[in-house]
Amino acid sequence: MKVTVKQWNAVAAWKWHAADDELCGICRAKFEATCPTCKYPGDGCPLIIGACNHSFHMHCMLKWLDTETSQGLCPMCRQPFSTAD
Ligand SMILES: [Zn+2]
Ligand SMILES: [Zn+2]
Ligand SMILES: [Zn+2]
Repeated sequence: MKVTVKQWNAVAAWKWHAADDELCGICRAKFEATCPTCKYPGDGCPLIIGACNHSFHMHCMLKWLDTETSQGLCPMCRQPFSTAD
């Protein structure tokens, strides 16, 4: 996996309760870009919005939910994660 050093500049503005829906809470990339594992934005890399109103790249959320530490919780608000619909 390639890491773009540029992106880490955004971490300085990181807030736990940020209401900024434009960034994926997991990879912190903009939604107009893809998750780190995809090359092309669009239908191939959809967004997922939780019942808690936090949104993520679907791929990021699937990866997160696959980890032991996630415990099925939203990484932003630590509530059990379920989709809005
Ligand atoms: Zn993401
Ligand atoms: Zn993706
Ligand atoms: Zn949440």
